[in-house]
Amino acid sequence: MTDGTFPSVFVSHGAPTIAAGDTPVTAFLKVLGDVLGRPRAVLCVSAHWETDAPGVLGAAEPETIHDFHGFPEPLYRLRYPAPGAPDLARRVVELLADHDIPCTVSAKRGLDHGAWIPLMLMYPEAEVPVTQLSIQPDEGTAAHLALGRALAPLRNDGVVVLASGGAVHNLRYFRPGSPEVPDWARRFDDWLAAAVEAGDGEALIHYRARSADGAMAHPRDEHYLPLLVAWGAGGDGAKGRTLHRGFMDGGLSTAAFAFD
Ligand code: ZN
Repeated sequence: MTDGTFPSVFVSHGAPTIAAGDTPVTAFLKVLGDVLGRPRAVLCVSAHWETDAPGVLGAAEPETIHDFHGFPEPLYRLRYPAPGAPDLARRVVELLADHDIPCTVSAKRGLDHGAWIPLMLMYPEAEVPVTQLSIQPDEGTAAHLALGRALAPLRNDGVVVLASGGAVHNLRYFRPGSPEVPDWARRFDDWLAAAVEAGDGEALIHYRARSADGAMAHPRDEHYLPLLVAWGAGGDGAKGRTLHRGFMDGGLSTAAFAFD
C-alpha cells in the first residue's frame, strides 16, 4: 500500500466484454494497477451512476451490479468483492461540503460495471477498498470540473480518483468486433487527447462548440463528464498525460489519461 500522492485517472471502460476478453484495453488496464501502485482506497466516478444531486456509496460490502444487457452470459457471473470505503465516503461528503456542494450517502447501491470492470482488471485481488460518487448529467461540464476540484485533496491522501467513462461514446455506432473506426470518432479522439495534454480547460469545458465532432462523439454528456472530474481532481494547473489510446467495437474509444 502507498500513502503517497497519486494522479487522478480517467479510463474509457469500452464494452463489458473487456472484462473477459484479450483486447488491448484489457491488457492496458491489467498493468495500470501496477503502474499506479496500490492506493489506500479508490473513489470511482462512473458514467453509469446518474443522479440529480451528488451521492456517494456508503456500503461496507458493495454488491456487483450487472447493469448491461445482451452480453455473453459468463459476464453476468463475475463478481468483484472489494470492500467498501465508508470512511472515504464520509470524507467525500466533507470535501464537497467545503465547496458548498451537498452530497448524500447511499447505503444501498453497489458498484456498477463502469467501476468494477476496470477495477477487476487493475486490482484483481479486490483488496483495495472502493466507493463511488455519482454524476449529474443535467449540471454540465463546468459543474463536474468543480466536483473534481473539491476532491483534489484526496490524491495526497493515498486515494486514487478513478473516473470511468468513454472518450468517444456513441452507441449508434457500436459494432461488436469491428476494427473499422469512423473518421469523426478518430478526429474527436485526437482532438480530445491534444486538449487534455495541453491542459486546455476552455476547450474541455466547451467541447461541443470547440470541436467539430463533439456532438457525434457524445450524443449525451454522461460518458464525457467523468473526464472533467478527473481533470479537476488532479489539482490546480493539472495537465493530462495519455496513458492509452485505441478503439474497440467500431467507434468506442478506449483512451485513458492521468492528471497531475
Ligand atoms: Zn459505459
